[in-house]
Amino acid sequence: MISTAKPSASSMLSVCDGRLAIGFILRRGRSDVEGFTAQNRSLGLFPSENAAAAALEARAQATARQRERFAMSTCRMCGSSPCVNPSFCAACRRAERQLTAKRKAGLLRESAETLRARRLLAPDISLERAWCELNNQRGRAAASTVEALAYQLRAGPSALREPSAQHRLAQLDERQMREFCGRLTKERWGLSKNGELPPRVPPWKPDEI
Ligand SMILES: [Zn+2]
Repeated sequence: MISTAKPSASSMLSVCDGRLAIGFILRRGRSDVEGFTAQNRSLGLFPSENAAAAALEARAQATARQRERFAMSTCRMCGSSPCVNPSFCAACRRAERQLTAKRKAGLLRESAETLRARRLLAPDISLERAWCELNNQRGRAAASTVEALAYQLRAGPSALREPSAQHRLAQLDERQMREFCGRLTKERWGLSKNGELPPRVPPWKPDEI
């Protein structure tokens, strides 16, 4: 299995396990040799090359076992080993199982929006295509238009008189309009003047919306 010690220099032997290099051995003085792992860590002096190779093999096997244990104890939910929050991750696993079972049984009624999001998350859909589709929906204003309008309306209801604001507003569909009105009911940042921090401004009053 192991100990294909090939001389690669006059005083150095590399030790391989199959095709995997697991360390090397250096001659020290007349009778001693020193074994090193592949990561350059010394395992100390040995009386013979065979003894050093055996120690390197034992170390490599122990490292492999440790890696395997780590991989087995890594939580699939949070990705930590050990799991950082076992009860929460157990609840997540349970919810995932229930959801999968419902989906398989055809009991899950998902909205068109969720189905579309799931389709766009498929590995064969490129990020560019997903981005394009999310931003160019027929009848809906692009996200950039909504944000431009939000920025413009920081100036207050008077900004609604500007033709560009009217034009942007006309592009919003009903759902976007509802969401946008919801944003106006919250306190927000006003427009900054002379590079100063923008002031906080109160929400629009219901009759202004
Ligand atoms: Zn976890």
